[in-house]
Amino acid sequence: MPATTPHYLIGDTWGTASELPPMPVINPATGEALYDVPCCGPDHVARALAHAETGFAAWSATPGWERARVLRRIAEEITRRREDLGRAIATEMGRVHSMCLGEADSAAENFVWMAGEAERLFGQTLPSRFGGQLNITPEPVGIVAAFSPWNFPLSLPARKLAPALAAGCVVILRPSEQTPLVGTILGECCQAAGLPAGVVQILQGHPDHISPALIEAEAVRKVSFTGSTRVGRMLMAQSARTVKRVSMELGGHAPLILCPDADVPAAAKLAAKFKFMNSGQVCGSPSRFFLHEDVAEEFTDVFLTEARAIRMGDPMSPETTMGPMASPAQLDKLERLVSEAVARGATLRLGGTRAEAPNGGFFFAPTVLEDVPGEAAIMTEEPFGPVASLTTYSDLTEAIARANNTDYGLAAYAFTRSEAMMRRLSAELRSGMVGINNFLLSHLEAPFSGVKHSGVGIEGGQMAIKEYLAYKTTHIMPETPAA
Ligand code: NAD
Repeated sequence: MPATTPHYLIGDTWGTASELPPMPVINPATGEALYDVPCCGPDHVARALAHAETGFAAWSATPGWERARVLRRIAEEITRRREDLGRAIATEMGRVHSMCLGEADSAAENFVWMAGEAERLFGQTLPSRFGGQLNITPEPVGIVAAFSPWNFPLSLPARKLAPALAAGCVVILRPSEQTPLVGTILGECCQAAGLPAGVVQILQGHPDHISPALIEAEAVRKVSFTGSTRVGRMLMAQSARTVKRVSMELGGHAPLILCPDADVPAAAKLAAKFKFMNSGQVCGSPSRFFLHEDVAEEFTDVFLTEARAIRMGDPMSPETTMGPMASPAQLDKLERLVSEAVARGATLRLGGTRAEAPNGGFFFAPTVLEDVPGEAAIMTEEPFGPVASLTTYSDLTEAIARANNTDYGLAAYAFTRSEAMMRRLSAELRSGMVGINNFLLSHLEAPFSGVKHSGVGIEGGQMAIKEYLAYKTTHIMPETPAA
């Protein structure tokens, strides 16, 4: 019987029992409590670790070809549960339902892509210059502790689970406490696909009761986290004590540079679509706009028209184009950032406040700020909401310097028709990913990764599986040589 409320999974047993008080899960579109999430603590962690050891012994010895078959079955299960997953995502975090179904499809594709990588996981054999043979063998790093956020509550854990399982690792996943039912259904998909007990386990609840115990455990050899730079930095420091591998997909504050030769109306329409997608709660969302002064007005007019056309409301309604913010704390932060920018001289062209919600909920109006000075906090602090900060430039060298003037380095965008300019912008923008004339940076077949304070390690593409592998070198000489 599929779960309709959040559960944890330890070994192959689902449960809700805990001595810790449960946490309420709130529907952000209405502000109403949906259900409670059972909170796991150090005892649950200890039990999960014991099962993970047994699971690792079985799964790491399973041939890559067989692991691939199971990964493909997980993809099939996700597709079979697409409607349940889509509804759970929309209800728990407030994204418009049609996009939630798309997230289920993309999560399934992650497992299919990584199944192929499991089938192609070979070592190398080469002659040693000292005689004999060198065997280089990929080995799974071991037990992985994975922590995923609420903004893409299915595809982000899938980006961790798929390469880890393909490599032969086992995973203890803590989904966000805001999206625990999505994590539960994902666990059910893994179980239904036939994974042995202890290979994927789900611990639910408050991070402080789970992550320190997991990260301190010697048996956990890898930590994979997606979330803010603040928390990522803390988990990296904790992981250092037992010298664990880490992958950190952290915050972003993406610049967009509009060159005067760009297709300005097309760029403005596309930019509005991506800026307000998921209510701006996307790590790669464009948030600092550097517009050439000759085309700034034309861009702003089209961008404002698109922003005014956004229809906020119930994420399950087909008419809705933007849902609520996932939590009320984000509303306070956005209001603070907007009013501080205005106090420093920015002009508020649209929005700037909490929106009237027809049925309650945490809605923030699509917001456009113009002439935002570089000193405004919103130019350095990630807004993670539906706020676009526009500013102009006259010299491209100066625009690139301003775009790079942040600790973040996840995504950057530029719009131009000049091939020379495309090459220059790709080379000079300091970020892990650059979109030229588009915003489509998330590909299964290419790395998704940040530089500077935006992260460490790679998710996506052929390199992603290496994050979960250690390469062992064995030098074999047929005879012991004379000393
Ligand atoms: P957050 O770091 O506060 O929380 C993210 C997740 O981490 C949540 O599930 C939270 O419960 C959990 N968490 C918090 N403290 C933890 C701890 N001590 N141990 C383990 N887990 C812990 O961030 P947020 O504000 O909720 O999420 C948005 C942030 O995530 C933004 O900065 C955004 O850019 C970033 N993000 C990055 C990517 C990427 O791929 N680079 C993708 C999505 C979101």
